Amino acid sequence: SGERNGHVEKSTVLIPQVKFTKLFINGEFVDSISGKSFETIDPRSEEVIAKVAEGDKADVDLAVKAAREAFDHGPWPRLPGSERRRIMLKFADLIEQNLEELAAIDTIDAANLYSLGKILFINNAIELFRYYAGAADKIHGETLKMSRQLHGYTLLEPVGVVGHIIPWNFPTQMFSMKVAPALAAGCTMVVKPAEQTPLSALFYAHLAKLAGVPDGVINIVTGFGPTVGAAISSHMDIDMVSFTGSTATGHRIMQAAATSNVKQVCLELGGKSPFIVFDDVDVDKIAPLALNACLFNQGQICVAGTRLFIQEGIYDKFVARLLEELKTWVVGDPFDPNVNQGPQVDKKQFERVLSYIELGKKEGATLLTGGKPLERKGYYIEPTIFTDVTDDMTIAQEEIFGPVMSIMKFKSMEEAIKRANNIKYGLAAGVMTNNLDTANTVSRSIKAGSIWINCYFAFDNDAPIGGYKMSGFGKDMGMDALHKYLHVKSIATPIYNSPW
Ligand code: NAD
Repeated sequence: SGERNGHVEKSTVLIPQVKFTKLFINGEFVDSISGKSFETIDPRSEEVIAKVAEGDKADVDLAVKAAREAFDHGPWPRLPGSERRRIMLKFADLIEQNLEELAAIDTIDAANLYSLGKILFINNAIELFRYYAGAADKIHGETLKMSRQLHGYTLLEPVGVVGHIIPWNFPTQMFSMKVAPALAAGCTMVVKPAEQTPLSALFYAHLAKLAGVPDGVINIVTGFGPTVGAAISSHMDIDMVSFTGSTATGHRIMQAAATSNVKQVCLELGGKSPFIVFDDVDVDKIAPLALNACLFNQGQICVAGTRLFIQEGIYDKFVARLLEELKTWVVGDPFDPNVNQGPQVDKKQFERVLSYIELGKKEGATLLTGGKPLERKGYYIEPTIFTDVTDDMTIAQEEIFGPVMSIMKFKSMEEAIKRANNIKYGLAAGVMTNNLDTANTVSRSIKAGSIWINCYFAFDNDAPIGGYKMSGFGKDMGMDALHKYLHVKSIATPIYNSPW
């Protein structure tokens, strides 16, 4: 049953039959060489959904061999961009035709809200494939104005075989954000989905093949980080690794890249983003935004606005309004269209979040609301708000990746900027004010990759996202992401008797 407002959950959605559980290498679904498999768990029921092939280094070798062959000798990088565009548009259409099933898969595997899956998560992926499809035939360099009698130009070439290592929080979004620009650029790839959420990536591989993506261009190796992930990041025949995940793993991947073949690295890592509210805002408008900025997807989003800074003049009113808004926030089965928050992705994350809540209490923050797991099956945690949080507390400094908000009070704009930047991360920030000068000054002063003024999660295909500081480097989305999958080669040749 629902947990708030006496609301009763009715889940009428048919749970999809899982069709794809094997590795996808060179256009075929195959068992792992070891024959091993691992279980993927439904976070709502803690029950096994399916057993999935467990890859290891030997499987990564096979996948890389296929990707290498497809890159060095296959058609994909050599096709006219318009052909890659045609195939990617077909891929997007096929995703659209399977939208409900894909949304349901991410709901049982990752607990992404089903209602949003249909209109947001899967839909965004479709649009992202279309966005990069449109770019595939517009990849070109520049003519250089060389200082001597030279004709010079740059040529953009695909970087080669890419290893994509992705997390579990938005399986579809992560897959499309990595795969779509790399495909448009003409790269071939090995994708390692997170072990918690391997199912939709395998379905996408099937659809890519149907759309006409040649064998070997997209390979999927399911399995664990220290085996499959490590094999990718240290592989001598992978040209680039594009990673999204925790900062701790980012360190390991960069190290493996450095000590193997100096492959290019792009890291989208953790965050602890500030959401700054100035005195002049309309509280009724901004409080719901602040709540969603922290709790969306159970707080499992790298850009979550988890540090809520409120200016002192509005502080009491804002916190009261936040609590009021929380009464409308429903925790429950992510298939229920009335639910705002489902379970955490797995037992490990569930326990990790609860241990941070304990730490918050121990370090002296005031637990304003929440703080407990729900008394039901599944990894559900109450939305949790701490006040009296000081900047040095663990819950103000470390990424919790759960429905936990830390509230802090500030006096001046200068103080807000200083404290917002007092963190090792720099992924995003929210600035809530109607004062243009304040909005401009804060936006330019915060060291973070995305700044959202009077809005939050303002994602767009055309807006690059990515970190400053220990949130990593390199961008996903937008034309910047396309360009990270392209080498710039400069070519020069002498020109004699030029009239210019
Ligand atoms: P994680 O780093 O443990 O796992 C992410 C991926 O890396 C998984 O596929 C995992 O199997 C793999 N991996 C684990 N160990 C590895 C190793 N030694 N070598 C290679 N690969 C390895 O992260 P997580 O805790 O599962 O995911 C949540 C984290 O992801 C959070 O910190 C969050 O901020 C971050 N994240 C960042 C972004 C972003 O865009 N910056 C987006 C979503 C999530």
